[in-house]
Amino acid sequence: MTPAIEVTNLAYSYHDGTEALRGVSFKIQNDECVGLIGPNGAGKSTLLLHLNGLLPEKRGNHSAVAIFGESISTENVNEIHREVAVLFQNPDDQLFCPTVYDDVAFGPRQWGMSEEEIKFKVGKILAQVGIPHFENRSPHHLSGGEKQRVCLAGLLICDPKILVLDEPTRDLDPRGRRELLQILKNIPTTKIIASHDLELIVNLCARTIVLDHGKIVADGDTLDLLSNEKMMLEHGLEKPHSLQHLHPHK
Ligand code: ADP
Repeated sequence: MTPAIEVTNLAYSYHDGTEALRGVSFKIQNDECVGLIGPNGAGKSTLLLHLNGLLPEKRGNHSAVAIFGESISTENVNEIHREVAVLFQNPDDQLFCPTVYDDVAFGPRQWGMSEEEIKFKVGKILAQVGIPHFENRSPHHLSGGEKQRVCLAGLLICDPKILVLDEPTRDLDPRGRRELLQILKNIPTTKIIASHDLELIVNLCARTIVLDHGKIVADGDTLDLLSNEKMMLEHGLEKPHSLQHLHPHK
């Protein structure tokens, strides 16, 4: 089956010469939910930005990233933006309209969806992300957690095939975190989630990729990898509390 995401030997250096990714390869099948973990500076955010062409890496005429078998190129990048939705760390970077309604409607308006359909969908999606009837609120007067849900609603309304999340629980209180976890569990699309919140990864992702110094150092079953104390410590991570009783398969 064609993978949802196929990354082949992806390398990327920033303008100042920092080598952020040094030959990363993996495949993610449709409907998988995959955790991406690693210490600060490992290259997680840089990798996520490549998944919808925000940081294009070119090898000849082909990109190292293919979405459902299509290499990302300047010709198809708009279509890719619709298929691959990225929830960034800071919601303030993504909210710029006077009302929640306009922010959530922004994407579908760009794609030419009718206002009637948009109205119906905005109501439905706001309920799905746990902020029903927020249409007329100002995004700038919401809590961090509520802003993040508005951003998520703005992505989900476009029916993305792949959802990419960068540190989604970073600014959430315990209740907000629990609620987000439940919302994400109920979204059936392919997901890739970068996080330091390892309990979130244990709860949501059957598979995890460990990145360090721009390279994949482990890729496999989440419980196996995260219960491997030696491997976790070697890469600046800690075995999560909930897995203290587990020992990795030899
Ligand atoms: P992570 O998300 O795992 O913390 P990043 O992808 O943010 O890692 O960073 C990977 C490496 O690239 C780090 O060494 C970081 O300092 C560097 N880096 C990230 N963004 C930039 C940038 N805009 N310019 C130069 N170097 C950067």
